Amino acid sequence: MNQTSKAAQGGQVTIIGAGVVGMATAVQLQDAGYAVTVIDRLPPGEAASFGNAGGMPTSHAFPLGMPGMAAKLPGWLTDPLGPLALRWPYLPRLAPWLVRFMRASGTENAGKSFEGILALMRSSKTDWQPLLDAAGIADLVQPVGGVIPYRNEAALEADAAMWRMSRQHGLNVQRLNRDELRQVEPTLNPDYTCGMFEPDWQRAVDPHAVVVGLAEHFPRRGGTLLRELVADIETGPNGVHALRTNKGVHKVENLVICAGAWSQKLAACLGSKIPLESCRGYHIVLPEPGKMPRNMVFPPEFSCAITPMRMGLRFAGTAEFAGLNSEPNWGRARKLTEVAKSVFPGISTEGYTEWAGDRPIIPDSLPVIDRSPRHRNVVFAFGHAFYGLTLGAITGRLVTEIVDGRPPSVDLAPYRVSRF
Ligand SMILES: Cc1cc2nc3c(=O)[nH]c(=O)nc-3n(C[C@H](O)[C@H](O)[C@H](O)COP(=O)(O)OP(=O)(O)OC[C@H]3O[C@@H](n4cnc5c(N)ncnc54)[C@H](O)[C@@H]3O)c2cc1C
Repeated sequence: MNQTSKAAQGGQVTIIGAGVVGMATAVQLQDAGYAVTVIDRLPPGEAASFGNAGGMPTSHAFPLGMPGMAAKLPGWLTDPLGPLALRWPYLPRLAPWLVRFMRASGTENAGKSFEGILALMRSSKTDWQPLLDAAGIADLVQPVGGVIPYRNEAALEADAAMWRMSRQHGLNVQRLNRDELRQVEPTLNPDYTCGMFEPDWQRAVDPHAVVVGLAEHFPRRGGTLLRELVADIETGPNGVHALRTNKGVHKVENLVICAGAWSQKLAACLGSKIPLESCRGYHIVLPEPGKMPRNMVFPPEFSCAITPMRMGLRFAGTAEFAGLNSEPNWGRARKLTEVAKSVFPGISTEGYTEWAGDRPIIPDSLPVIDRSPRHRNVVFAFGHAFYGLTLGAITGRLVTEIVDGRPPSVDLAPYRVSRF
């Protein structure tokens, strides 16, 4: 790291949010020499970062909004348990976001989103490794393949445009016939007759433990973790100078907002209107499924990721737009037990646990990684949607470069606030 940086002059950074993005950012700012404080109302990793699917792909960079979405909207509106659902009472508030989302889902714009996600994803493995090693938690992330099984060739052909996108970018994606699919993933329902295979993935065998591991490492190196709710941000002529929490006032030299789905309100306090929504997901974990796939499996008809983890087999997914403060619809989690039985006939769902969490999503599925346009000592790093675990480490690297005043090692244009 560049030790001629501002950090060498005793720089201090405060981060709001101890999710995977906040903690991966905190340890890298420490590496650069900053004194770092992380503030969260919850213990580390207890929001969206707790229950994700643990997938860390290098080749699967699809945004939520893909061409053909418009045709699916009416179906979503009428099926509260479908893979993608909207709650009617929330529709008036969601409408402006949806308009932007539909625009972002056109062929050209979806292609740009794919490229924007991929540009961050390509180095995700190499960005994560030193952080995991330093925290002593490298065993929590393991290599895995990603299998996308289809019931028939017609279903695979319907996704042809999507797979063309991957091939156009030279990604390692292989088409499997029935026998190959069986060999790669023998546990699948034999009704699946073909598939796609992405061999170069990683998976976190316990995504919550990854954040906890970073959070335990962080104070050992002098970091400060505060369990407080940030209620207000105080600004002056030189930018942000203090945070007002439920427990007091904290002076701030540099501020990084990594507050996931709650970031919109904090950015608004600083004069930036960001179209950030909660895209709620659910998971179930089967403690003793009786069948354990070798790979991560993504049956596209259910929009669900299935991951072998150390606490059991996790089925995570579905996307629900119901507003950040709404009650979860646990029927959506229960629906995942039917997915389990359909994908792996004979599986046991006995004793399953369920969870819901709020993904932070922007219409183009790209995060915001940028300096606040109004306050030069503030950096935004949120909105990672379906890839926050995968992209946590690279985000932390880019935030560190921004805070340090170094040229960013990735072109930040796709992630700038000015795109709104
Ligand atoms: C079902 C599901 C499956 C997923 N699968 C994957 C996957 O396979 N791979 C992948 O890469 N990603 C996946 N994701 C996405 C990933 O989990 C998220 O993108 C990521 O967790 C976001 O991390 P974060 O740190 O930005 O937010 P969070 O983990 O939500 O953390 C934000 C933190 O900010 C705190 N906070 C907010 N406001 C305040 C305030 N005012 N004061 C104090 N603290 C505050 C919150 O308490 C919270 O702890 C999945 C998500 C879901 C829901």
